[in-house]
Amino acid sequence: MILVSRFWTKIFSLGKADAITIYPFIFLKKRMFKDNQQLINHEKIHIRQAAELLIIFFYISYLLEFLFRYVQYRDFYTAYLNISYEREAYANEANFDYLSQRKFWAFGQYYKK
Ligand SMILES: [Zn+2]
Repeated sequence: MILVSRFWTKIFSLGKADAITIYPFIFLKKRMFKDNQQLINHEKIHIRQAAELLIIFFYISYLLEFLFRYVQYRDFYTAYLNISYEREAYANEANFDYLSQRKFWAFGQYYKK
């Protein structure tokens, strides 16, 4: 379900993103982002990842991997881009058939790179 809220998108993303998925909701900073199919597909990939990890384990492992990547790269944005879940979402956001073909726990392939 898509919700447009500049306030909550900023709160959940620490002011850093145009969109964020807090299962089962996709928060968008601006209404116009609803038309950005690639952005919506990216967030839907996160919805699928979260569902496959019973939601709570997705968020815990997302934060832990972010910390691990931050130690690795020493840069907030590089660390974020290299979280396995983000690697999978960015690599496939332009493929609109991706979610219909994707294998269970596909993010696992993106851990090592
Ligand atoms: Zn993402």
